[in-house]
Amino acid sequence: MAFTDSEPQGRVVGNDSSAAARRPLDVIVIGAGQAGLAMAWFLARRGVRYLLVDSNPEVGAAWRSRWDSLRLFSPAQYDGLPGSEFPAAVDTHPGKDDVADFLASYAERNAFPILTSTTVTRMIRQAADFAVHTTQGTIAARQVVVATGAFQRPCGPQRPSRRSASVSVPRAPVAVAVTVPRAAWSGVSQVPCSMRCW
Ligand SMILES: Cc1cc2nc3c(=O)[nH]c(=O)nc-3n(C[C@H](O)[C@H](O)[C@H](O)COP(=O)(O)OP(=O)(O)OC[C@H]3O[C@@H](n4cnc5c(N)ncnc54)[C@H](O)[C@@H]3O)c2cc1C
Repeated sequence: MAFTDSEPQGRVVGNDSSAAARRPLDVIVIGAGQAGLAMAWFLARRGVRYLLVDSNPEVGAAWRSRWDSLRLFSPAQYDGLPGSEFPAAVDTHPGKDDVADFLASYAERNAFPILTSTTVTRMIRQAADFAVHTTQGTIAARQVVVATGAFQRPCGPQRPSRRSASVSVPRAPVAVAVTVPRAAWSGVSQVPCSMRCW
């Protein structure tokens, strides 16, 4: 990998993380959620040089930060990742921390190289490679997988512009029933949010 601004400060997990390897990576995966981790599982089996980059300080943080009562709507038998069943009984609905734990242990068990606490800010095509600019420097890669998810910003119903002073509308991120299509684990759910996001 080629860090041109500064050496990365984020935690790199796994092998192939040496900054001494100056040639461009084969693949950089932006995002280490379900989609990014599943991609890593396949990349690892192809023997290519790859790296995952994620804004969060640890894998699973996006799930851990959600509301306490959240449970998956998809039963456990459909919640696994490549090579790993979800560790819960069939037809049970894991909680949000169970999901975070599963993702973290999956990443650790497979020793995926992950640069955490690092946000990708822009990406520029340079001849045969991409220059991926991050908060920790620029990384060159031949191919880029964008696995940044569709739920980075909370969505909620529009608040009425005119209302009686006696009516209060909570602004807290309540458990809004956003329409989420199935097969979301694959990370391909580009859900157009019909509600206003803030
Ligand atoms: C409340 C809720 C409940 C859900 N319940 C279910 C369910 O029961 N069953 C189901 O199948 N699906 C469910 N989904 C959908 C499922 O969670 C998502 O489809 C899935 O998380 C998508 O995975 P992903 O890897 O694409 O994205 P994410 O899990 O969101 O991961 C994206 C990662 O990219 C990182 N990232 C984003 N931008 C950058 C950047 N610029 N630089 C570096 N890193 C970046 C983020 O930090 C994050 O870790 C639910 C979603 C929500 C919001």
